[in-house]
Amino acid sequence: MRVGARRILVTPSGARKGFMAPGDMVLCDLDGQPVRGERGRPSSEVAMHVAVYRHRPDVNAVVHAHPPYAVAHTLAGISLAEPLMPEVYCELGEILTLPYTTPGTHEVPDAVAAAIGGHDVLLLERHGSLTTGPTLMRAYDRLEILEHTARISHLARTLAPGQVRTMSAAELHALSFVCG
Ligand SMILES: [Zn+2]
Repeated sequence: MRVGARRILVTPSGARKGFMAPGDMVLCDLDGQPVRGERGRPSSEVAMHVAVYRHRPDVNAVVHAHPPYAVAHTLAGISLAEPLMPEVYCELGEILTLPYTTPGTHEVPDAVAAAIGGHDVLLLERHGSLTTGPTLMRAYDRLEILEHTARISHLARTLAPGQVRTMSAAELHALSFVCG
């Protein structure tokens, strides 16, 4: 998350997230480099976070995760871009899936940079999710909503294979007057 105009706090590299203390977070500049005096190294995935902060001044927090149901949809070739439920569409907008890119290369942040302008939530094929927000809790809530949606999608498609209908253009048009 952003802390001030030119600093971000980043999860450390290789950390077991359940065993972290607040002081383990790494203070970095907007290039993802640790500031002077920091002992830890930032996550190897810091480049995609930096790409978001560069292109979205309104975003103050980025949550990256590997949520199983959402990632499974990218493996199965099932897009979540077409809305299934109204509340999800209002809160997340279009859930865009980016094609696979090689981990650890500039392909990953480049793909994120190209797509994040028009989206608050991205899925990375064979990898994970990126959710953003004006606050850390909003970005976190969007991750929870994303994975909950993917779980419901999985259940519905299991109950009625081939019969799950996404929301129609008319339904989305009507919804556009209601979404906050
Ligand atoms: Zn990852």
